[in-house]
Amino acid sequence: MYKTHTCGELRASHAGQTVTLAGWVHNFRTFGGVVFLVLRDRFGITQIVTNPDKFPEAAKAVEGLKNEWVVQVTGPVRMRPADQFNPKMPTGEIELEAHEVTVLNPAKALPFVVSRDDEDIDENLRLKYRYLDLRRERMKRNLILRHEVVLFMRKYLSERGFIEVETPMLFKTTPEGARDYLVPSRVYPGQFYALPQSPQQLKQLLMVAGVERYFQIARCFRDEDSRGDRQPEFTQLDLEMSFVHRDDVLEMVEGLITAMLPEVAPHKKLLASPWPRLTYNESMERFGTDKPDLRFGMELYNVGAIFEKSEFVVFKSALESGGIIECLVAPGCAGYARKQLDNLTATSKELGAKGLVTLALTAEGPKGSGAKFIGETEIAALSKLTGAATGDLVLFVADSPKMVHKVLGALRIWFRDALKLTDPNVMGFAFVLDFPMFEWNEEFKKWDAAHHPFTMPRLEHLDRFETDPSTILSEAYDMVCNGYEMASGSIRIHRRDIQSKVFSLLGIEEEEAQFKFGHMLEAFEYGAPPHGGMAPGIDRLVMLLADEPNIREVIAFPKNQAARDVMADAPSYPDERQLKELHIVIRE
Ligand code: ASP
Repeated sequence: MYKTHTCGELRASHAGQTVTLAGWVHNFRTFGGVVFLVLRDRFGITQIVTNPDKFPEAAKAVEGLKNEWVVQVTGPVRMRPADQFNPKMPTGEIELEAHEVTVLNPAKALPFVVSRDDEDIDENLRLKYRYLDLRRERMKRNLILRHEVVLFMRKYLSERGFIEVETPMLFKTTPEGARDYLVPSRVYPGQFYALPQSPQQLKQLLMVAGVERYFQIARCFRDEDSRGDRQPEFTQLDLEMSFVHRDDVLEMVEGLITAMLPEVAPHKKLLASPWPRLTYNESMERFGTDKPDLRFGMELYNVGAIFEKSEFVVFKSALESGGIIECLVAPGCAGYARKQLDNLTATSKELGAKGLVTLALTAEGPKGSGAKFIGETEIAALSKLTGAATGDLVLFVADSPKMVHKVLGALRIWFRDALKLTDPNVMGFAFVLDFPMFEWNEEFKKWDAAHHPFTMPRLEHLDRFETDPSTILSEAYDMVCNGYEMASGSIRIHRRDIQSKVFSLLGIEEEEAQFKFGHMLEAFEYGAPPHGGMAPGIDRLVMLLADEPNIREVIAFPKNQAARDVMADAPSYPDERQLKELHIVIRE
C-alpha cells in the first residue's frame, strides 16, 4: 500500500507514530514560513505541516505542490497546540509533520475548485469533468449514501428469503409506456434486441420458474423525450413475490423503507406509520394528483353545489358542459398583488386551463377576479366548507375534472414551495391504490394500460371489458412520497385467458401478442403461481434522502437534460465499418 492510514483516520491516540498518507492536495496556506497543507482522500482530510529547519527538502517539495496533485507524505503524527484544535475536522486534534514527500502525479489546473462545495458551477461543466465533480464532498456523500441504501436493500430482502437474480439487458420489447432502445444484431441482419424498460416479463417468468421471492438492483431503459427529472437509464429495486396478495407486497416494501430510514438517513422522519393509504380517486379529488404530497393540507374542494345556481358565466358554462368547479385556499395570501395573481393565472393557462378565478378575502371585503360574481351567501358557504377566512386567497378552476385536478394540483405544489409549507426532513410515504386499469388515448383513439399490460384487473370487473372498460379497476398500486411517485407495482395476471382479454382490449391482436409476448403466454400455461411485485426507483429515493433537487446528483455518470453524456460525448457516430457489420445505412 502507498499509505499506512487513511486521511480520515488519525486521532490523538496516534500521536508519536510515524505514518504515511497518500491522497490529493486539498488546499494549503503559508503561515510564518511554515506550509499548512490539507491532504484529502476518500476517507477524510488531514493537516500536514512542514518543518523547514529540520526537513528542508520535504518543506521545499511541499512548497512546489498545487491543488489536486497526488502526493505521498511520511512523517510523525503530533498533537496540535490546544488552541489550534479544529473541532469540525475528525482529525482536527493532530497534524502530520512532513519528513518525506513524494509527488505521485501532478495535475493540470482544474476547470473548477473541488475543495469547496461551490453550487455555482455550470452543470454541463460538472458533467464534462464528472470525475472531478465526484471528488467534491457533496458528490462523495451521495455516492456513499446510494451504496448504503442498496446494501441495506440487499441485506433486508436476503434475510427474508429473497434472492437476487440478474436478467438480460439484451432482450425483447418490454413495454412500460415508453419507446424502446434498440440494439442491432450483427449476426442476424435486420433484427434488433430491445433494452428492457424494466425486467417486468423476466421477473414474472422467474415466478413461473418457482423462484418465489426475487429482487434485483435493475437498470431500466426508457427512450422518452427529456423531461426534467428523467434519465434514459435508471435503477429500480425490482422485486416480485409468489403466492401473495396486494397487502403482502405493500407490507414488505413499507417494512423495508421503514427499517432503512434510521440506518441510512437518521435525520429523516416518517410522516405517519403505518403509511396512509388512499384510493386513486380520493387522491385525485383531495390533491389533484395521484402522487400527493401529504405533508401539508391545502386540499382541493369541490364547490359545484355552492355554485349550482350561479349566473357567473365561467362557473355556469363549466357545470353545463359536465365539468366541475373546485377550489384551493391559500392561507394568508389575500394580500397578493395584481401581478402575483396574473402570474398564477398565466401558470394555470400554461397548464391548459381556460382561466383562474381568484377571490381574496380581505378585511375590506372580497377582492379578485371572482369578487364581483360571488355573493355573500356563497362566501359563507365556502368558508364553512373549506375553512377559508379573512386573509386567505381562494383560487377556483372550472373545467373538466382532468383539467381542474391538473391545474389545482400544480398550484397546490406551487404554494407549498412559495409558502414553505413542508419540512424536507419529513418523508410522507403513502400508498395509492385502486387505479383504473385502462386510460383512453385520445390521440390514437384506443385504450392504453394505465400501469402495464400484465397487471391484473379486478376479477369482479371482468364483465366490464365489453361494456365499460373505463370503470375497470386494477390490482395496481403506487408508493408515493412528498409529491413524487416512488414506485409502481401490481398483482399480475397469471391466467392466460385474462391476459388475452387485456391484450385484445389494448388492440394487441393475437398474432402481435404471439410475436411480442408468445414466450410469456406460453409460460403461463405451465403452472404460473399467483404473483405480484413492485419496483421502487432508487435514484429518486436517494435523491430525497440526500436532499438533492434532481436525480442527476445521485447518479455517478448521468446524462444531461438533453440526454447526452457530455463527458464521453455520447451518443456519437459509429465508424463505417461498425455500421457495415451491423447492416445499417444511415438515412439523412
Ligand atoms: N415494472 C413496473 C415498473 O417499472 C414495476 C412493477 O410493476 O413491478 O413500473
